[in-house]
Amino acid sequence: MEIRRDPITQSWVVLGQRENLDEPSEPCPFDTGIVEKQPSILSWPAEGPWQVRVIPHPDPLYRIEGDSARLAEGMYDKMGALGAHEVVVETPAHNKRMSQFSDEEIERVLWVWAARVADLKKDSRFKYVAVFKNQGALAGDEWSHAHSQITATIFVPRRIKYELSSANEWFHERERCIFCDVVRQDEKQGKRIVDVQGEYYALCPYASRVPYEMWLMHRKHNHLFEQPRPESNRRQLAALLGRILRRLDKLAPAFHLVVHTAPNTRSKKGELAGYWKTLAEDFHWHIEILPILEKRSKSYSIKEVYFNSLLPEQAAEQLRALDPNS
Ligand SMILES: [Zn+2]
Ligand SMILES: [Zn+2]
Ligand SMILES: [Zn+2]
Repeated sequence: MEIRRDPITQSWVVLGQRENLDEPSEPCPFDTGIVEKQPSILSWPAEGPWQVRVIPHPDPLYRIEGDSARLAEGMYDKMGALGAHEVVVETPAHNKRMSQFSDEEIERVLWVWAARVADLKKDSRFKYVAVFKNQGALAGDEWSHAHSQITATIFVPRRIKYELSSANEWFHERERCIFCDVVRQDEKQGKRIVDVQGEYYALCPYASRVPYEMWLMHRKHNHLFEQPRPESNRRQLAALLGRILRRLDKLAPAFHLVVHTAPNTRSKKGELAGYWKTLAEDFHWHIEILPILEKRSKSYSIKEVYFNSLLPEQAAEQLRALDPNS
């Protein structure tokens, strides 16, 4: 595996063949007897039978023993695929989707995500730690057993860089966080809000890229997902996420979920050094959910411009009308 940078868009691309090309492994690699043979990175609870377990990804994109040195190839830049790639097995139950979890079970997964992000950020070589979940074959889900993935990379993914630079610019002009402004404006208008639990909001973003795209945000400012504000109640976030996923179950067979948190600032050097100064004030963690509908025609990108035939205001209205408790 190697990571190359496109000199024009500055995005990093992981290139190379994955090793395990065989058919989906039988039996399921995340079932109790098998997962326990893997080295455990984190197990919850610490004693007794596990409820959530983090193991190394069986076929990782990034490896801890990789080489971080950047190599120039003429005008091009590349580096080894140094990083970490972990799987969070979200439940010992083979057939239970996250939408079927109790609020407490979802909260546990949120806690494990936060714990892994915080731990991986202790390594100053890692510039960014990503948490994501692909559910359903259309989302490229590799195993049906409920799981999510964590990657730590020595670069910041391009979309995060875009978000960081916009947030930074907004802050310099207005001295306000752009995400806090989004929540306030949408709160006032109401029409894109899908659901609220305590101070957590689920909304369809103004320029939704796909039908039923949703962002989950806390209305109080905080740039770090892994470090909740002392007064915040993650059970509420779990309850909100559960209701959103149960609504999605009725509409979309698959989705991508990503947690966007601030990059790692332990190493002050590098490509983003300029953004660090106001990062704590201008960036705001959030969760993005991108559903994938079977009917491809409803959403497709034409030459890299998203086309979405469903207005977020209509999407939010439809989502609100669905019963999240059945
Ligand atoms: Zn399984
Ligand atoms: Zn904010
Ligand atoms: Zn984001």
